[in-house]
Order: sequence, then C-alpha cells, then structure tokens
Amino acid sequence: MGQKVRVATASLAGCFGCHMSVLDMDERILDLVERVDFDRTPLTDIKTLGPCDLGLIEGGVANAENVEVLREFRRQCKVLVAVGACAVTGGIPAMRNSVPLAEVLDEAFVHGMGLVNPGIPDDPELPLLLSQVHPIHEVVRVDYFLPGCPPSADAIWSLLTAVLEGGALHLTWAQLRYD
Ligand code: SF4
Repeated sequence: MGQKVRVATASLAGCFGCHMSVLDMDERILDLVERVDFDRTPLTDIKTLGPCDLGLIEGGVANAENVEVLREFRRQCKVLVAVGACAVTGGIPAMRNSVPLAEVLDEAFVHGMGLVNPGIPDDPELPLLLSQVHPIHEVVRVDYFLPGCPPSADAIWSLLTAVLEGGALHLTWAQLRYD
C-alpha cells in the first residue's frame, strides 16, 4: 500500500493495558510508523479526530463522555476494532453492573474504608456515569473484535498487518490462548 494508513486509538473505561500492548510491539513500531500516520491517540497525545482508516478502541462504555468519543470514532473511522476484553465484553469495569450505581458511589465515596473527605464528587465537568458499563458493540457498530486482557503485541501486530496489507486477519491458536 503506497499511501499511509491513518490510525486512531482511544481508551474508554480501560486501564491502558491494551495500549501498553501496542507499545510491546517493540522494534516493529519502527516499521509501523513508516506505514501509518497516527491521528487522535494517547500514544501521541493528539486530541482531535479526523477521518481515519482504522480506529482501535480499548475499554468499555461507562460514562457519557465514553459514548460521545465512541460515536465520534464510529463516524470518522472506516474500520472500528474492539481491542481487549473491556471493549469486547465490558470486562473488569462491568463487574459493577451487578450492583446498583447508587451503592457503587456510596461504597467508593461515602462509606468505603479509608476515605478522608467523604462525599460524591459533583463537579459539572465530570462526565455522568451510566448505570451500567457496556461493551462497545452495544453502542455502535463494530467491525472486528480482538479478545484478550490485553491482546498480545503479536495479535495486535497481526491485526495491523492485515489492515495494512488489505488481507484477512488470521490469528493463531497461540495468539488466542490465555491459560
Ligand atoms: Fe486493561 Fe485488560 Fe481492559 Fe485491556 S482488556 S483495558 S488490559 S483490563
């Protein structure tokens, strides 16, 4: 492919572990930057999103800002990939789904152990929490799902190579085996 592929990434309700896995590609990143231009991504700290070939989303959808960012990625990216367990299923953040949100907030900010100044934060700049954490496909259409917590650098490399070369994505058993 002569023209560089434009890639954007975002972390919604995630731990940045999936982004760390991107960095784990080590020297292959040098090959990547020859073939890819990065748009909005925490890897470059670019904050605005333009039209992209590929969007990689880490994390579930836990608040109103996550919804906004995700919808913008869907509008701007030709191909959107759910990267990692949190984006694919809600993952660890979704463990709060079995508890009413009011109880979650109470435990975290009012009656939990070790709190110095109890009180639920209410700064208007804070994004409103959703009552449940959602996998991203419950909010927008998703083209591919890359499982793992996090997916390995090899699996992410395979995904990027398939997109760069316009081929089908084939993941080996080793890339999908987690025990
Ligand atoms: Fe972190 Fe795992 Fe979620 Fe990725 S899938 S954001 S590594 S918890």
